[in-house]
Amino acid sequence: MSRRKKIFSCGHKGYGQVCHRCANEAERDRILQHDRVREEKRQQKQEWDSTFAQDPINLKNLPTHVVVKARVIIAGLQSNKNYREYGGKRLRHNRWIISIPVTRNYRMICHDCGNLLLPYAVLSHEDYNVDKPGG
Ligand SMILES: [Zn+2]
Repeated sequence: MSRRKKIFSCGHKGYGQVCHRCANEAERDRILQHDRVREEKRQQKQEWDSTFAQDPINLKNLPTHVVVKARVIIAGLQSNKNYREYGGKRLRHNRWIISIPVTRNYRMICHDCGNLLLPYAVLSHEDYNVDKPGG
């Protein structure tokens, strides 16, 4: 019944089934590691958020793969690639508006300003169908 200190496999002395010094250290490491990961994630998010400042249209709140794909199209249009290369089509009820598929569920709406094609917005199919008259 007497509580006798014993020597754990780590070499520390103490009572109980496990070495409390090592358990505490492991817990502290776990918290530090957790903080490090959280800080890294925070920095990555900050870096990612800052990239949106360079977009000519608002791409925030879109899924990442949609943002990436939209930027490829925007860069292409800016280097004078034809919207048809991206599967873009003029709207039947407004020939000055061009709709380019970004992913299966998102399209980019562009305004044809004569010799310049200006990206206007990236819309999901749900948003898009609400705006479309009779759609
Ligand atoms: Zn120990």
